[in-house]
Amino acid sequence: MRYLITGGAGFIGSHLADHLLAQGHHVHAFDNLSTGSLDTIAHLANHERFALTIGDVCNKSALETAASGCDRIVHLAAAVGVKHILEHPVETITTNVRGTEHVLEIAEAQDSLTLIASTSEVYGKALETVDNLDTLAEDGPWVLGATSKRRWAYACTKAMDEFLALAYASEYGTPVIAARFFNTVGPRQTGQYGMVVPSFVKQALAGEPITVYGDGRQTRCFTHVQDAVEVVDSLMNTESAHGEVFNIGRPDPISINTLAERVRELSGADVPINHIPYDEAYGDGFEDMRRRTPDMSKLQAAIGTRPERDLDTILRDVIDHERAKQQDMHSENGV
Ligand code: UDP
Repeated sequence: MRYLITGGAGFIGSHLADHLLAQGHHVHAFDNLSTGSLDTIAHLANHERFALTIGDVCNKSALETAASGCDRIVHLAAAVGVKHILEHPVETITTNVRGTEHVLEIAEAQDSLTLIASTSEVYGKALETVDNLDTLAEDGPWVLGATSKRRWAYACTKAMDEFLALAYASEYGTPVIAARFFNTVGPRQTGQYGMVVPSFVKQALAGEPITVYGDGRQTRCFTHVQDAVEVVDSLMNTESAHGEVFNIGRPDPISINTLAERVRELSGADVPINHIPYDEAYGDGFEDMRRRTPDMSKLQAAIGTRPERDLDTILRDVIDHERAKQQDMHSENGV
């Protein structure tokens, strides 16, 4: 099979490329390197079944050229990271809306099976505002905040992407799947755009205080990136999944305070854990989500499995990766 991965130089994209190449497929990565990086795919530079186009999904003709001859598309290109999204609201909205529209137009013209990346952000504040709701199911409610709160633009555009993908499926018969990723983490993810796990690990390894935003009692469910790419692969090979939306996560909520403690323990770093008010971290009027736990029964029923790697496994992998990176940098500098 020939795969086009938009966002192929990104964190999830590079792991998906590794996974698909290991299975003998061809991979064409398409990335504008805005948040992706050549470092994530440097090891693939001379791979005979790997190609890279540096381009923007908002440029339809460049995307069309890269997609030509591809059997399948995985659309991961998006503005990512809460801090990045808050700082670049226009890029967030145009990339997520226009880029996805281009991908779907091409998918329809080529009849290419396409997976569109969505996000657990689309559920917004549902768990804290809807009575008797403990987990988030694909067809359940979602509650976003005001348009004056920039954070919600990301969720809103991703929900629009899902609507558009499902519209292509029902109106034109385009084979599409939408996948809502829940806090996917693992080696190669950068903390530069605000993600919590790489940020904490970097702080701990540098001997700096770990900075928890808010009271730290908010929870998240973390998914190992390797689990996430295996699920993407399985979904694309499951015909009953076409035209459907799936959660990709693990229903095991961890408070950010506990996360900070686990990072400190597993890294062996003797650093303090500091709490910083949200306004100081993100600017005025920021709204966080207190809870976000997926219902995984739909995915389990569709592919017979679900992400299983636990938080300690994830953290050990991230810590080992960061340590190896630091070691490489030291030896390059002759230290
Ligand atoms: N967070 C934190 N310190 C950091 C980065 C994030 O305490 O350095 C918190 C953040 O406020 C949120 C949680 O960790 O409550 C997850 O943040 P992330 O940006 O990784 O993902 P998202 O908010 O999109 O779930």
